[in-house]
Amino acid sequence: MKFFILTDLEGVAGTDLFTQTRKGSMKESSMRQLTHEVNACVEGIRTVYPDAVIDIWDGHGNGGILPEELIDVDVNYIGRTPPSKPYYRLEGYTAMLVVGQHAMAGTIDAPLNHTYTTEVMYYRLNGVFIGEFGARALVAGTQSVPTIFLAGDDKAALEAKMFIPEIETVVTKYGKGVESAIHLDKAESCARIKEGTIRAMCRIGEIPPFAAIKPPYRFEARNLAPIGKEWMAKRPHLKFIDEQTYTIETDDLSKLPF
Ligand SMILES: [Zn+2]
Repeated sequence: MKFFILTDLEGVAGTDLFTQTRKGSMKESSMRQLTHEVNACVEGIRTVYPDAVIDIWDGHGNGGILPEELIDVDVNYIGRTPPSKPYYRLEGYTAMLVVGQHAMAGTIDAPLNHTYTTEVMYYRLNGVFIGEFGARALVAGTQSVPTIFLAGDDKAALEAKMFIPEIETVVTKYGKGVESAIHLDKAESCARIKEGTIRAMCRIGEIPPFAAIKPPYRFEARNLAPIGKEWMAKRPHLKFIDEQTYTIETDDLSKLPF
């Protein structure tokens, strides 16, 4: 058995301010909690499959994991070093698990909601609004790898179930606004993540790969503010609909900004 854990920082218990996820002194406690939540996920996998191969990828732009605090010495920590987007090479993996996830941009009362950057108003793929979870689950799913578990805020969990109704989820906090949430106790969040991961391990085979959005792909992105002329000029492969919106038509997911 081989598992890929994809992580982000905004979805952990105890974090509901953007300053807690950006460079600076306030970020470290969020990183510590993410690392603890990842450790809990690893413990859950090991409870059912002690000899599993476990790869962990840090999916937060400026780094979300404290690698020295990963307790299981046998996990492979991929970190942020190139080649980027390792979730495009999931051949041989049994399943993907997601820890620390937030909801897509524009989700009501979803703490720290965004889609890749806070400049994005929305991404749509073949008419479907899609965020980081859906995009990455689709990349995995097109490689026949199911995404079987998500830990994150309540809106991220609902978003995951919208795409994959069978997925196991654990809620770390309940969103009350963009920078407001009611949090689980940090240790309780970890305990639930371990239990949820065990449930997911026992349900492998019941949770199908997410591949419902099929090529040809028509991708549309809209930014909150007008896109700079210089940025546009550097990207001749994009078709600009107006000063905030562009589209990409392709059969290849890796050509999209996922
Ligand atoms: Zn993110």
